[in-house]
Amino acid sequence: MELKELQKYVRDWINNVGETNWTKWNYFSRLVEEVGEVGEQLSLSEGVKKHKKFDKDVLKEEIGDVLFVLLALSNKLDIDLSEAFNKVREKHKRKFGDV
Ligand SMILES: [Mg+2]
Repeated sequence: MELKELQKYVRDWINNVGETNWTKWNYFSRLVEEVGEVGEQLSLSEGVKKHKKFDKDVLKEEIGDVLFVLLALSNKLDIDLSEAFNKVREKHKRKFGDV
């Protein structure tokens, strides 16, 4: 799926199943929480934390959670993620040239 399709999927999912009254701060705090869950998995993979066994499928799911919430936050802010990504590409092009 393209980013636009992903954003539409998340918008539709939230309108049908999710919490429609979340504020941008709700999404932001959930995003931070999900990033922390990715961090926990990385700590397990590096042996920094040993309370659970590292499972790459769990890491994959946590990264998916980050993407889902980022898509939801972007929708809330009316930001097209493809456009946002293109802005980063343009910035990199200015700084480092064409790759
Ligand atoms: Mg998660």
